[in-house]
Amino acid sequence: MADFMFVLKNFLLVSLAMNMCLIWKINYDDEETLSSKWSSWGNLQQKFHFHGSCFNGEKNNGRVEEAQVSSKRTEILATTSYVASTVVPDGGESVVINLDHGDPTMYENFWKQKGEKTTVVTSGWQHISYFSDVKNVCWFLEPELVTAVTRLHKVVGNAVMEGRHMVVGTGSSQLYQAAIFALSPHNASTPMNVVSAAPFYSSYPLMTDYLKSGLHKWAGDAHKFNKEEPYIELITSPNNPDGSSRQDVVRGHKGILIHDLAYYWPQYTPILSPPPDYDIMLFTVSKSTGHAGSRIGWALVKDREVAKKMTTFIEINTIGVSKDSQIRAAKILQAVSDSCDNDDDDDESFFDYSYKLMEKRWKKIREAVDKTRLFSLPDFSPETCSFSGRTFGQLPAFAWLKCEGDVDDCESFLRKNKIYTRGGKHFGASMKYVRISMLCRDSEFEVFTERLPTIVS
Ligand code: PMP
Repeated sequence: MADFMFVLKNFLLVSLAMNMCLIWKINYDDEETLSSKWSSWGNLQQKFHFHGSCFNGEKNNGRVEEAQVSSKRTEILATTSYVASTVVPDGGESVVINLDHGDPTMYENFWKQKGEKTTVVTSGWQHISYFSDVKNVCWFLEPELVTAVTRLHKVVGNAVMEGRHMVVGTGSSQLYQAAIFALSPHNASTPMNVVSAAPFYSSYPLMTDYLKSGLHKWAGDAHKFNKEEPYIELITSPNNPDGSSRQDVVRGHKGILIHDLAYYWPQYTPILSPPPDYDIMLFTVSKSTGHAGSRIGWALVKDREVAKKMTTFIEINTIGVSKDSQIRAAKILQAVSDSCDNDDDDDESFFDYSYKLMEKRWKKIREAVDKTRLFSLPDFSPETCSFSGRTFGQLPAFAWLKCEGDVDDCESFLRKNKIYTRGGKHFGASMKYVRISMLCRDSEFEVFTERLPTIVS
């Protein structure tokens, strides 16, 4: 009996130890999967310390990029492009190229050249109050920013400003949320439908449903929306991810439109005359000048009541928007207008610089794609830009790449070749497509366009 008890005890101990190992392994595997797909900063730091694999080609002690939301875990994780080393040991083959996020670092060199012209100095006593202009509907909007935005839209001709209320937001992401809050009835029995034509910007569904507010709900692809119910339609033009010019598609009588014009700038698309004068237009410095880190966006809103409700949303959400950021954004936008206006100045204008850069990158990526039968890219018809006088087809901030032939999951296919992109399903589209950021630094883009034609399987 004692022998039997001894054997039983040992058996239980061994079994406990094996189970502990199994539990530890499952947790560890989960973490690995998660960190390889949507790495948190901590995970990445650890990972790259050992593997040294992600590359920007310049010294950069880790920077947080466009916050993204994991569809698997529905939680927001800050994703990171991290430079482990400036030395590329094997000519770049082992390097992971992360083109998943639209982090607009490509304009960094232009802004470096501008130096003092865009420096903002703030003393400790400045920008202390919550308030900026209590007479304005948007009471936390800095007058300097209004002046800079008005001037730039006039210079470029990409939005009507007259008769508009301007609302500032912490990025246009906050303004999107403020707009759907303002446009959804607060006493309705069912949530307001929010739609956009696929492929749509991957953050819209996530931002719409994240708080499960009951005011609004993501109702998917606008092409498939056929309910006799009120709806909000988002029109992103040029579109993220595929760069196409867009108009509303549902055309029902119960619809309210929001125009997201984040990319309606002359480095990405010909500006057409007359300027757009939609009811709600969203803009952001993230994609116009590349200052995503300042987190400044603006909405131009026709209806005073809608502008007021949007202001209320931001008031409750963050009690306004950083004054320091608004003043910095104003300085940057003034510098852009100056660079366009100033004929005597030998310096290239911001839009000349950024247009040439986009043109060069699109030429390179098309050449790379033409060298292989595995991929294809959309074509765009040329139009004449009323701002620059140039005739050109879209030069989108993202390449909407299709894997031709048997490859059904383009994201995984490229991932095997150490190119990280965002797959079509995030945009309500086929997995044969991926979105590739065209806004990274030169060095990263070089490695990418060199690697693409070498991929065989
Ligand atoms: N709208 C679109 C279409 C975008 O692509 C982005 C940025 N990726 C945003 C809005 C959000 O911009 P912001 O950084 O101003 O929040």
